Amino acid sequence: MKEHLELPIFRLISELADEINKECYVIGGFVRDLYLQRPSKDIDIVVVGSGIELAGQVAARLGKKANLAVFKNFGTAQIKYKDLEIEFVGARKESYLRNSRKPIVEDGTLEDDQNRRDFTINALALSLNKKNFGELTDPFNGLSDLENFVLRTPLDPDITFSDDPLRMMRGIRFSAQLRFFLETITFDAIVRNRERIKIISKERIADELNKIILSPKPSVGFILLEKTGLLELIFPELLALKGAETKDGIGHKDNFYHTLAVLDGICATTDNLWLRWAALLHDIAKPLTKRFDKRLGWTFHNHNYIGEKMIPEIFRNMKLPQNEKMKYVQKMVTLHMRPIVLSEDEVTDSAVRRLLFDAGDDIEDLMTLCEADITSKNPEKVKRYRANFQLVRKKLKEIEEKDKVRNFQPPVDGKEIMELFNLPACATVGEIKTRIKDAILDGLIPNEYEAAREYMFSIAEELGITK
Ligand code: ATP
Repeated sequence: MKEHLELPIFRLISELADEINKECYVIGGFVRDLYLQRPSKDIDIVVVGSGIELAGQVAARLGKKANLAVFKNFGTAQIKYKDLEIEFVGARKESYLRNSRKPIVEDGTLEDDQNRRDFTINALALSLNKKNFGELTDPFNGLSDLENFVLRTPLDPDITFSDDPLRMMRGIRFSAQLRFFLETITFDAIVRNRERIKIISKERIADELNKIILSPKPSVGFILLEKTGLLELIFPELLALKGAETKDGIGHKDNFYHTLAVLDGICATTDNLWLRWAALLHDIAKPLTKRFDKRLGWTFHNHNYIGEKMIPEIFRNMKLPQNEKMKYVQKMVTLHMRPIVLSEDEVTDSAVRRLLFDAGDDIEDLMTLCEADITSKNPEKVKRYRANFQLVRKKLKEIEEKDKVRNFQPPVDGKEIMELFNLPACATVGEIKTRIKDAILDGLIPNEYEAAREYMFSIAEELGITK
């Protein structure tokens, strides 16, 4: 493996570790990714001794270009150098108490350190000392697991997962990210230990969920979360989408698998985490809004609006951000039916203008979501929907060029209305503003100041307001 440790930084660490006479290894994700040929900038170094001491020496030799941070309480140090992040830690032995994922830590050997790793593929260590530079220490046959795409814990999986239940989420995340398979014994241990996830902070769970969502095929992760019983504990709203009911011979699709197909589909076109979240949540209110009507069959009226309203609580529970990212997801969810309705009906200019106005700069993302939402197995239907969407896109472009309504602000504002008619801030001002906006969006008047002003006077007259 020597040839893979060609970064000059490894030679420097090697030299300095030899100088202080300490065994030193590069370990974990970096080594795994070397073998998988996934370039990585995060390097973990284990020293049998003090990681902080070695880090100090390395930083001193690198000079001003290196940024050293020491975390005394954790016994670790980090160097940021160029685009690399190098963590130094002393080899450690860990033992766990039942109610916490914070272990009791003691100094240990390389073997102790490898025993505390989550998966065999993450326990590979390459020596950095000169005498055996690049030599692999692989006590659990991690290399063979790498070649066979297998995820397996180094020790008894029940102990590994019970000690630190976050490892269950990590395992499922690696399945989705690397397309590896959880070995049966490991999978079964997740099922047995699933309740332990409750001791893990929401933030860490959300981190792993985000990584699953950002993986090339997130459905792999969500299906494993469902099958292991973890989904019920961490994201019950998503699990509620599962299942298809039939009444009077009429069925509806399984919205869990549909949602996952939409999410997988959108991953081909976007890396935007929040657009991917929108795909995951677009039908989240379907279980709540589901009704059976003898005439109409299954309906999910207003599931987009109710879905929008559910999102703040879901985000709060998961400790996801309560900011403009969340608002964006809400907007996508609430609007996700609009282009579809448009493509089914005759595409009127007025409806297109309203869609442009409501979606603003997010119109492209919305169209991307709607296109991913076509998951029908009937190729004729897919073809027809796609063609209609092309038409909607064309119309959107034409109307935007013509009317510039995408980020439009009504040309007459509330302040001007109040001043002209000597009105206080009141509902009437709002009504006048809305009617001007509607008139522009409906194409009754052009999107211009003079026309809007004139129209405003006619509304005022109708409402009996004088100057
Ligand atoms: P990624 O960088 O994609 O998150 P990674 O495996 O490099 O993947 P890190 O969180 O950087 O993940 O962890 C580095 C290494 O530390 C892992 O490869 C693993 O050996 C070990 N590790 C991290 N978290 C745990 C854990 N919860 N339990 C046991 N070992 C862990």
